[in-house]
Amino acid sequence: MKDFYNNSFSPEFIQQLKSKNDIISLISKYVHLEKKGKNFWGCCPFHHEKTPSFCVNEYDGFYHCFGCGESGDIISFLRKYEDLSYYEAISILAENANMKIPRLNDDEKYIKIKRTKERLLLILNLTREFYKNSIYNKDANIAQSYLKSRNTTRASLQNFELGFSPNFNDLPNFLAEKGFSPEEMKLAGVCEIGKNGKPYDFLFERLIFPIVNVQNDCIGFSGRDLSKNANVAKYKNTPTTMLFDKSKTVYAINLIKKLKKSFGLNNIIIVEGQFDVVSMHQAGFENTVACLGTALTKDHIKELKRFCDNIVLCFDGDEAGQKAILRALNTFEDYGDDVNVRVVRLPENLDPDEFLKKYGSQKLKDLIDNAVNPIIFKINNIKEKCNLNNPEGKVEFTKNALKILAGLKSNAEQDIYLGEIKKETNLSLDYLRRDLQNIKSLLQKNNFKNLENSEEIGDKISNNILENNLFGEIGGQSAIIKAERFVVASLLHHMSYAVFNDEVINSIQNPSLKKLVNILFQKYKNNEKFLVSYIFDLFDVDSEPNIKAVANFDFNIIQNPEEYFKECEYLIYSSSLKFKKDQLSKQYSQEISTDKKIEILKQINLLTKNIQNLEKQKQRNKN
Ligand code: ATP
Ligand code: MN
Repeated sequence: MKDFYNNSFSPEFIQQLKSKNDIISLISKYVHLEKKGKNFWGCCPFHHEKTPSFCVNEYDGFYHCFGCGESGDIISFLRKYEDLSYYEAISILAENANMKIPRLNDDEKYIKIKRTKERLLLILNLTREFYKNSIYNKDANIAQSYLKSRNTTRASLQNFELGFSPNFNDLPNFLAEKGFSPEEMKLAGVCEIGKNGKPYDFLFERLIFPIVNVQNDCIGFSGRDLSKNANVAKYKNTPTTMLFDKSKTVYAINLIKKLKKSFGLNNIIIVEGQFDVVSMHQAGFENTVACLGTALTKDHIKELKRFCDNIVLCFDGDEAGQKAILRALNTFEDYGDDVNVRVVRLPENLDPDEFLKKYGSQKLKDLIDNAVNPIIFKINNIKEKCNLNNPEGKVEFTKNALKILAGLKSNAEQDIYLGEIKKETNLSLDYLRRDLQNIKSLLQKNNFKNLENSEEIGDKISNNILENNLFGEIGGQSAIIKAERFVVASLLHHMSYAVFNDEVINSIQNPSLKKLVNILFQKYKNNEKFLVSYIFDLFDVDSEPNIKAVANFDFNIIQNPEEYFKECEYLIYSSSLKFKKDQLSKQYSQEISTDKKIEILKQINLLTKNIQNLEKQKQRNKN
């Protein structure tokens, strides 16, 4: 309960505390900052980087990292950096500023919060009992038979304290009888308030999984739909409350604690869903937990590490599951080295529950015993996407696999995995080593931690190629108009390679070309013909040089029109994104409100990601 004190200080006190602590000198204790323009810059302490993208705004009293998106004020900085509670951070800042902290024990607000939390826990634990009992009632047939259909045993029913919500009203009525107000029910997250002002149980008619913390207190619920209605969410969880935060909560952690006490623990298996957890426990893997339908966070890792350093990821075998694993591996990397992670790849898009049903527990045990380390997982993952039987596929695989190795610190480690790449491709170790060296020196030159995640290198390369080779002689602004002319001309003259692309069409800047291309697009969508001669009805061609140019376009001067078309499309779209980004940056520097500034930064970050994705895609197409 890290945020126990969050609401217990007066805004006046917090304001004073912030104004008496200088954000620049505070952050300078941890990060080397340099003043550039109005702001201070340094390397972000919250993700690995070697070129500064961490910016501190002294005047507004906040920081923001353009690389990873972290932002906040001095309190959140201290909390994150030093891993402190809110109260601890406040104490340090107060001491710095020679201020007295309002005595919490005497603080009415604090006592009120503490009492509230105790009441909420009471509600949650009573609700847990209510649901648990309800599953044995006659009207819980649907839940009983559902559990049977999923092969859930009676032991699991008890172990996981599964329950049932019979309807909208029984729970709130039950809680009202015990003396709780609708507001308290809402605050605990067990009821919503309806339009008529009355509380109702929004998990009605669902199978209930109580979410229990290590102190064995229930802090929330997850409800599975039993109606098989495709229009309702399959799972619904308690919203974030004073006690429940999905991003910090590990499902079944209470059972892990018990297991560790009674039998010890070699590793913890993480799966994606609650039913996977249940099936895993039934199959003898009682060391299994899940994150409740969210990406794995550092807080989840911290919670798990209290019990065990060895983690096995066993996510769904589908594309989404594999992506989630890659994301989780990044989170583990950011967390630090002292967690030992291995990965299981389930076949045929199966989730653990389905795998167990189809192949049984021995087969799963074999997979878990053979779980691979993150590097091998990543290499395998790339392999699946490349066809190693053709040269292009081999090159693609080798390049991406080497990028992964380039991030490794030890040469010995790199050599071991080079052996794996050699096995797959039959390329000589000597070549592979040299290529790896090239990638690494590119990496050092550009000061990037690893190439794997840095589209920026691709960015640099692709921009140079584009500008030097394609539009070298004209450059800049005129390159864009040239590209726009060629794209519109190709569409107008129905060239075989020319296809309409929404994003590109919306990015065309020249007003006459924009008008023309929109008309073309409309006709195309309506399956109507457009003859080049129509242009003369629509435009005063002689006074519009761009229209004239596309009407009389000489395609013979273009050597490889298909490829050129793609390059032009790319240039048009990417420059419009960059233009938007510049606009936002201007807006940012003129904005006074901190909230709005942060909002603009978010949009800038989003655009940056889009631009990077685009460039990545372009690189990929090129290879
Ligand atoms: P089941 O086996 O019951 O069909 P599953 O675990 O196979 O469920 P997935 O779609 O793989 O379902 O989802 C994994 C997990 O993500 C779920 O167990 C649940 O915790 C969470 N989840 C799924 N759908 C939703 C949703 N609509 N809203 C919130 N969480 C969800
Ligand atoms: Mn499932």
